[in-house]
Order: sequence, then C-alpha cells, then structure tokens
Amino acid sequence: MSTAPTNAVVVVREAMKAVWWIKRDFRIYDNHCLWDACKKGNLVIPFFCWEKSVLNEGDYSSFHLQAQWEALLGLTTNLQNRGVATRVVIGEIVEQLELLFSKMPFDQLYSHQETGNLLTFKRDRAVQRWCDKVGVDWIEKNPSSVIRGGSAHQRRLRLKIADFRKQAPLEIPELRKLQPLPVEIIEKGPDWEKLTSIFPKFRGFSYNSNLSKIDESSALKTLDSFLNDRGIEYSGGISSPNAAFKNGSRLSSHLAWGTMSLCSVFNQLDKRREELLDSEDRGKWNRSLRAFESRLFWRDHFIQRLESFPEMEEKSLNSAYADLKYEDDPDKLQAWIKGETGYPMVDACMRCLAHTGFLNFRMRAMVVSFACYGLHLSWKTIHQPLAQMFHDYEPGIHLSQLQMQAGVVGFNAIRVYSPTKQFLDHDPEGRFVKRWIPELEKRTSAEIANAEKSIIDGYSPILVDLKSRAKEMKSRIFEIRKSVGGKIITDKVLKKHGSRKPLKKRKGVVENKRQMTLFKTFGSGKT
Ligand SMILES: Cc1cc2nc3c(=O)[nH]c(=O)nc-3n(C[C@H](O)[C@H](O)[C@H](O)COP(=O)(O)OP(=O)(O)OC[C@H]3O[C@@H](n4cnc5c(N)ncnc54)[C@H](O)[C@@H]3O)c2cc1C
Repeated sequence: MSTAPTNAVVVVREAMKAVWWIKRDFRIYDNHCLWDACKKGNLVIPFFCWEKSVLNEGDYSSFHLQAQWEALLGLTTNLQNRGVATRVVIGEIVEQLELLFSKMPFDQLYSHQETGNLLTFKRDRAVQRWCDKVGVDWIEKNPSSVIRGGSAHQRRLRLKIADFRKQAPLEIPELRKLQPLPVEIIEKGPDWEKLTSIFPKFRGFSYNSNLSKIDESSALKTLDSFLNDRGIEYSGGISSPNAAFKNGSRLSSHLAWGTMSLCSVFNQLDKRREELLDSEDRGKWNRSLRAFESRLFWRDHFIQRLESFPEMEEKSLNSAYADLKYEDDPDKLQAWIKGETGYPMVDACMRCLAHTGFLNFRMRAMVVSFACYGLHLSWKTIHQPLAQMFHDYEPGIHLSQLQMQAGVVGFNAIRVYSPTKQFLDHDPEGRFVKRWIPELEKRTSAEIANAEKSIIDGYSPILVDLKSRAKEMKSRIFEIRKSVGGKIITDKVLKKHGSRKPLKKRKGVVENKRQMTLFKTFGSGKT
C-alpha cells in the first residue's frame, strides 16, 4: 500500500481558548469547569469579576464579601503555585467579558450551573445573549442533581437514573501543561483594603476574625475534623446552639461558596463509613453519619425549588398566601435585627449571628418563626437582613426555609417555636444567652426563663406578647389553608415542589411524609 503524501489540504485548527468564569466554585479539586476547560482548551483563562450590582444587592453583606475574597485568594494562590495566572476585575460581567474578548477573542465560556438570586438569574440571561451575539459557546457544568429550570418531579425522575451527587470527584487536572496567559490578560485584582474602599457600602469594614475561614484547604480540614472527631456527637448535638458550633459539620459555608463540592463530601463520607466497620463506636458514629447524610440530601431538593421558581424572593411559592396580612413595623424589624425583643433566646441568636454568621438549624427556624408569628413581619421583609447575616447564604435553601418556617408553603406543619422552651431544652445553664447578652450575665437560669413574664433591670422589656400574636397569625394562615381555593393551589404546589409524590390526604391537606422526618429528627412533637 502506498504511503506517499496526497494533495489533500491539511486544515490546522486554531488553538481553542476557553474562559473559566469563576462564580461560586472556588476550588481546583473536583471542579468540572476547570477539568473540561483544561481538556478542551489550549489556553484557559481563569476569570473572576467583582460584580458591582451583585455586591450592592440587599442580600449581600460584608460577611459574603469576606468569604468570597478569602476563597478567591486561596484559589488564585493554588493556581499560581501550579503556574497558572488569573484575571480578576471589577465591574459588570457582560462589559468585562466584552473587554476580555476585545483583547483576546475566546471560543468557550465555562461556568458552573448557579442557582442564585433574581439578580444573578437575570444577569445569566444577559450573559447568554452576549455569548449568542459574539458566537461564544457557554458551557455550564452541573455536577449536582439540580435540573436547569426543572421541577422537583423532573429531578426525582433524573435521580432514578443516576445520582449526580454520588459520582466520583474529579482529580486536579494537569495545570502545568497549560499555555501561559499573555501578560496583558493577567490582572491581580484588589486587596481587602482596596476592595472595601471601592464600594461605599463596605467602606470602613475591617476583616472579621469571628467568621470561619473560607478556602479550599480550610474546607478539607473542616471535613476531616468532622468525619474523624467532631461528628460523633452530631446526632443530638446539632439541636443546641452551643454544641452545634463544634458538633455540626460546619460545611455549609464551604458548600455555599464552592470551596468544597457536595460530591467530595459524599465520597469522604463513604470512605469513613468503611473505616468505621471495625470501630467500637460504630453504632454511635453510624447514627450521626446517617443524620448528617440526610441533611446533605436536602440541599439539592431546596435549591431545585428556587431553580423552578426564580421569583421566590418576591413571591410565595404558594400563591394562596400572596395576600397574607403582615404588620411589617420597621421598629419591630430593627429590634429583631439588633436582638432587643426582650426574649433572651431570640436576642442571643440574633446577636450571635451578627458576630459569627452562624446559627444551627433549630435556632434559625426559631428566629424566623418569632419574626413572622410574633412580630408579624413578613418573610419578604426579613429575607434580606437575615441573608446578610448568614455567612453560608445559599439562596435556594434560605428562601425555601424562610417560606416554610413562615407557614406559607401550605403543605408543611405550622410550627411556632417557644423561645422559653428552646432555652430550657437547649441552653438550661444559660451559657449561650449569657455569652451574647451581657445584660443577663448575672441572672439565674430561672430569671432568664421567666423574662417573658417579668421586667429585668437593664434588659429590654418584651416587645410583643408572643402567644396572643402567634394565635392571631396562625388563624389567618389556617383560614387560607382550610379554604377550597387554598387547598386546590396547595395540591398543585405540592405536585411541583414536594419531595415525593403525595402519599395521603388528611383533612384535605396533603402532607409530605419524608420532608417531615427531617424536622422530627430536630426534635419531637412540641416546639
Ligand atoms: C430559615 C433558615 C435559613 C437557612 N438558610 C440556609 C442557608 O442560607 N444556607 C445553608 O447552607 N443552610 C441554610 N439553612 C439550613 C441549615 O440551618 C444550615 O445548613 C445548617 O445549620 C448549617 O450547619 P452545618 O454546616 O453544621 O450543617 P449540617 O447540619 O452539618 O448539615 C450538613 C449540610 O447539609 C446541608 N443542610 C443542612 N440542613 C439543611 C436543610 N434543612 N436544607 C437543605 N440543606 C441542608 C447544608 O449544606 C449543611 O452544611 C437554613 C435553615 C433555616 C431554618
């Protein structure tokens, strides 16, 4: 057979250039964008934009700025150590992509599939329009089980085929083989002082050392210490606002900012379970790790809700509750934010949040129930102030939980938490309350427990009578719940957003069994 060269024209493909738009995925391990971009692009440009509109939005706070800044610093240092430079800019994303494109046209834009607030949802649409206009292929990588624009039902069907949360994590790609970035593309981005001085909203904010550190190596340490040590007391431990700081996984901020992937957590959890097979403490560990895993599973379920209903920060999922009457008194809102309601457990939680950005699930549920049922503040009114205080702010979980705890989803149990009961059950010695409310430092536990009924010198008197106010709000909610129209709409909402197919109908209200078990494990019956 002849091997002589033919006259065929050899087409030399131009080198592919890919931009990795870093959003909330500040990691190099198990990063599908980085992995794919490295495999397909000859030149990969890691790119981050401090987006003015996102930072100026009402749900964004200095806690988030610090988390993102640390996460970005950790990532760019990791990349730099492997010979890869990054471009970090300030502005609006479309204008910055345009600028980059004018300096160096690229073929592909990689980013992870983000389910963010309404602003980022609209921003993403603008990015898609820009990509279509200039002919850039935007590839959104999605290692989760959340379906773009899909419903809970579609997600359930997809999970029957494969659980994307349980796929093996991707290794760090061979970054040294990448073509170096041209110098005119590299930008280092501002340091903390410069960054906070650029935005009037953040001027004068100093670095807060009470917040947990957010970068990839801190995420690994947190997971490791949880799975090998702290986690044994998880079951039971996470109900207490004291113990949850140690016995909770404390992974929520890492998962929210993407310094660790959910797949990596599942992967390490499985490995740890194997190691524990011969352990003496196996029973205790198993109980705790089962409880932990069940919470991990809920992440995508709630994020899917926002994905299928992006207007969730403005509208209740269940339109039957759209006109529910709230007082929305700005003074009560301020008292709640500052932790000056006269209810020690509520005030301690709010002050703890303002300092540390963290609170356990039970106490988060309690402060929301107090605001909505006691102060008659709407979930919409408290959404942004509370989001600002959560270091782990994840819009899908946050908005779903807000609406659930406010009782406006329609198919969850109505729960009004008693702050006094929470105090007696979870802080009987008053350690948590005294730590955050110095005015009560010298008071006995009995005095703190009775704060609702008596005036304590130097501490705020109660702002409202919780019992009577809650009764009033509950009756408004039950009126809608029992109405024929309310039931019809709730049925539809459950089909679209419930965690499984409706199992049974009781008194006309469709209940969702699996979802309830999560809450039962946080405490039984009385709240
Ligand atoms: C009103 C309200 C708002 C909330 N807002 C957020 C938020 O913005 N971001 C956030 O991550 N969590 C939120 N949660 C859920 C929960 O309170 C926190 O995830 C948890 O307290 C974080 O502690 P941890 O990291 O030790 O989690 P663990 O208890 O160890 O749980 C492990 C992980 O599972 C996930 N998870 C835990 N509980 C839930 C849940 N109920 N639904 C979905 N996923 C869950 C989180 O990613 C968490 O890190 C909210 C809860 C309430 C009641």
